[in-house]
Amino acid sequence: MELLVGVFIFVCGLFVGSFLNVLIDRTARNEDFVRGRSYCESCHHPLIWNDLFPLLSFISLRGRCRYCSAKIPPWLPLIELATGTTFILVVKLSLNLSWWLILLRLAISLLFLIIFFTDLKYRLIYDLAIYLALALVLIYHLINGNNLGSFFSTLW
Ligand SMILES: [Zn+2]
Repeated sequence: MELLVGVFIFVCGLFVGSFLNVLIDRTARNEDFVRGRSYCESCHHPLIWNDLFPLLSFISLRGRCRYCSAKIPPWLPLIELATGTTFILVVKLSLNLSWWLILLRLAISLLFLIIFFTDLKYRLIYDLAIYLALALVLIYHLINGNNLGSFFSTLW
């Protein structure tokens, strides 16, 4: 994998990780995660576009809010970094696969990240996330022509 491609995939992962942060926090608080701009959790000031760059804005603001100087929770860059790293690892380990299998692997990994961080942060695990992950794993095995009997025998 070329360095430039790797950097591009990592940055894509950071942006997806930024979305995961919004998804994890707003779902746990029963807020609408599609509409509504991102805001500082301390002063509730809406964030401007250059506050929204994953990781970079955290570093350039030295981990503090631009408006009220409150500390930005370390979760935010951590989840972004974890997602970026996951993107790189999944793509690197899937280079011989077709692009839709890579996308499936990425989607499954994202669901695992959501399950892991919602559990860690809010002690919540959504049934929907587990069922979706299970369904995608099944689809992955079906597409890949794997023996489903041996897949199910690993479940129990
Ligand atoms: Zn603030």
